[in-house]
Amino acid sequence: MTSQNAAYGIEELLARSYEEWLTAAEQLRFETRPFIDGAFTDALSGDAFTSVSPRDGAPLAQVQSCGAEDIDRAVRGARAAFDDGRWRELPPKERKRTLLRWAELIRANAEELALLDTLEMGKPITASVRVDVDKAAETIAWYAEAIDKTYDEIAPTPGDALALISREPLGVVAAVVPWNYALLIASWKLGPALATGNSVLLKPAEQTSLAALRLAALATEAGLPDGVLNVVPGRGEVAGQALGRHPDVDKIAFTGSAEVARLFQVYAGESNGKQVAVEAGGKSPQLVLADADIGAAASAVAWGVFYNAGQTCNAGSRVVVHASVKDRLLDEVRRITDETFRVGDPLDPATVMGPIVDEHQLGRILRYVEQGTRDGATLFLGGERTLAGTGGTYLQPTVLDGVDNTSAVGQEEIFGPVLAVVTYDGDTDEGVRLANQTDFGLVASVWTRDVTVAHRTASRLRAGTVWVNTFDASDVITPFGGFKATGAGRDKSLHALDAYTALKTTWINLA
Ligand code: NAD
Repeated sequence: MTSQNAAYGIEELLARSYEEWLTAAEQLRFETRPFIDGAFTDALSGDAFTSVSPRDGAPLAQVQSCGAEDIDRAVRGARAAFDDGRWRELPPKERKRTLLRWAELIRANAEELALLDTLEMGKPITASVRVDVDKAAETIAWYAEAIDKTYDEIAPTPGDALALISREPLGVVAAVVPWNYALLIASWKLGPALATGNSVLLKPAEQTSLAALRLAALATEAGLPDGVLNVVPGRGEVAGQALGRHPDVDKIAFTGSAEVARLFQVYAGESNGKQVAVEAGGKSPQLVLADADIGAAASAVAWGVFYNAGQTCNAGSRVVVHASVKDRLLDEVRRITDETFRVGDPLDPATVMGPIVDEHQLGRILRYVEQGTRDGATLFLGGERTLAGTGGTYLQPTVLDGVDNTSAVGQEEIFGPVLAVVTYDGDTDEGVRLANQTDFGLVASVWTRDVTVAHRTASRLRAGTVWVNTFDASDVITPFGGFKATGAGRDKSLHALDAYTALKTTWINLA
């Protein structure tokens, strides 16, 4: 499908029926080869893996899997593109125009990109359109607009010297991303990395390679010079590791599990000492104080953990609630969940919760639920596989009550629609202590009607983003990333431009 025959507006796509999406899905064709140096090329490795749709367990495509030799070829092409300046030396306005065209092409191809995302990952189609595709386009356009609006600095030297402080692109950047927001998280890295003039290799997760490949072809169609953006699908321990250890990669921008984040730090240390920015998940608390607006908090708790079937790095997977309001909160969460979180085929626009990404993840989540009950928690809601007859990997929205904050389900990232409810009976200090009692530090929220308590508590919560009386309010304009084991570095906002540039001082003798 080319962009010329596929221009649907986002609103039009959101108004589509289930039948229309089913028909569109049947007509879809997949490109499964790596995108290197401006073209789809067969992987030298001869390796491939099967992409399976979690909606029905059916194989979608055999994706060619890059080996170390493919990664090396792509890095060499990216380096050549960087060194000869075919992108970074273009006038800023020209780079802006190219990235803006790319953002437009992403929107024009929203149908295809959203379908790829939904079929591969199981995200409900309306969320794929509205969030993954539309926000990815918005992010690329936002960074495109920044290109000719950011200035460098002049240092306050004596009059006989002029010292310029400029930001220069790092060179070759490898973005290694997870499957849960395949396009959006990629755009958080591609936007600022390309806007600042770097060459990029994007390594999508094995579960979601197809939309990423399409994204790169659209960039070339928009006029991005060959070699500047490459997409190298492959197995993590092969292609991911080859990028991490490559001596000519200048930076790894990683989002994924804490375990793999640390591997990248090792790869970097054992190779060329490349920069490593990581964002690696959370066990994010929603702290509900005794005076909270329970209706509003319950809605945010349900959406916070069940949206995207809980497969969200900043899911509010732990609620820390005062004992005096716990029962009311949970009753409301149950009501909202029953009314809203319809589990079903992600191609059906009426579906609010799609499947878990694959059998492996589903099994892992179910083992956590079992472990939770063995450790003394009670199953308040859900806890079972559902719609098994479809062949898909569906799970009920699940709530574990009476969770000990130090137990496995109180501490470890489940990455599924499972809420751990931790109750406290003391003062707000006790709530804050429990909320902060985690190795992670991505996001947190506090619910209270007292503005002084809200402000004081927000400053004491150790997280990269703290919400007050809301959850998951976000935009490209604010930074996103975490404290502690969640990682180092921030995506989004103008601060992300610093992540893909190095400061250079040019001291000129005027005497
Ligand atoms: P993952 O860490 O297994 O994989 C992420 C990426 O790393 C994939 O591209 C994968 O192929 C690659 N990879 C896997 N093993 C590797 C290895 N040995 N060497 C090099 N690369 C390797 O994570 P996932 O399963 O794709 O995603 C789920 C995890 O991502 C969750 O734990 C979640 O918390 C985390 N996540 C975090 C954020 C965030 O912003 N903090 C966002 C989304 C997801």
